Amino acid sequence: MRDVDVSNAVRAFLVPREGTLTIEQRSGYVCIWCPTVLRPGQGIPLGGAGTWHPHACTPCHTIQGQALTAYLAWNDHVTDCVVCRTGPCETSLSLRHATVQTRERAEWRPACTSCNAAFAPGEGFVPRMWLGASRVALSFLHLGPCAYPFLSSLGGDDGPHLGYGRRPLRPPPAEG
Ligand SMILES: [Zn+2]
Ligand SMILES: [Zn+2]
Ligand SMILES: [Zn+2]
Repeated sequence: MRDVDVSNAVRAFLVPREGTLTIEQRSGYVCIWCPTVLRPGQGIPLGGAGTWHPHACTPCHTIQGQALTAYLAWNDHVTDCVVCRTGPCETSLSLRHATVQTRERAEWRPACTSCNAAFAPGEGFVPRMWLGASRVALSFLHLGPCAYPFLSSLGGDDGPHLGYGRRPLRPPPAEG
């Protein structure tokens, strides 16, 4: 990915919601990921309008951008790879390694979006992008039961919080 593409992807996927940032962060005075103070013209602009001008310092932007790029590359691979439909191929394993490493540096630890558990060493998991309430979520799923309801119903899902086994039961139709 070129720098400008990474920057666009960071804008699209990673900028936190306005309500979760301080006033200084919203106005671009402080990096959205760390306490670095940015003077006018410093940092990477991440979109916005009016009083909403989020910026990241260059080191944070680089680290987050690398983690995002690695995740997207892995996700693209898993989506298209025929071998990966039955089990992760060599490419998938190395993309997973890159994703985990870059995300650790970004302090953005992967956990299963279905059961909320972190991944133990040796456990299989796959990337899973889904459309959340306000943005695309870049999540992961354990292989097996956690992945089943998502991978088997591509598109139109309700998000992981209504995951397998926890979907509210529909009340029976009223009689008469
Ligand atoms: Zn920063
Ligand atoms: Zn593959
Ligand atoms: Zn799980």
